[in-house]
Amino acid sequence: MSDKTIFEKILSGEIPCKPVYEDEYTLAFNDISPQAPVHVLVIPKNKIINVSESQESDIEQMGRILFAAKKVAEITGIIKSGYRLVMNNGENGGQTVYYMHCHVLGGRSLSWPPG
Ligand code: 5GP
Repeated sequence: MSDKTIFEKILSGEIPCKPVYEDEYTLAFNDISPQAPVHVLVIPKNKIINVSESQESDIEQMGRILFAAKKVAEITGIIKSGYRLVMNNGENGGQTVYYMHCHVLGGRSLSWPPG
């Protein structure tokens, strides 16, 4: 039985995906269950489980995720109207896939606080 997360299967090509943005360090693709008109996930190509499990050696990669999120905002046309970046972390944070990902949400006015 494979213990790969769904995002590792997307990265390896086992599960097909149409990238919204890709570079040497990151891949961004549409969330399967969008919570806003724009809902893209940015993942690192090197595995990091979440912020809590991150190491000092992951600092550059985590910065690359944020910069890729900006690229996604440009590509999807939400850079001027505004958007939200979310990283759910651990059980109470609502993380369901234990492979770091940054949600890029936009295209409508988002309420605060989150549930
Ligand atoms: P989390 O709850 O861990 O912060 O976010 C996981 C996200 O992955 C969810 O928003 C969920 O809809 C999305 N997701 C789960 N499985 C798949 C999949 O197979 N493909 C895509 N594109 N998104 C997925």
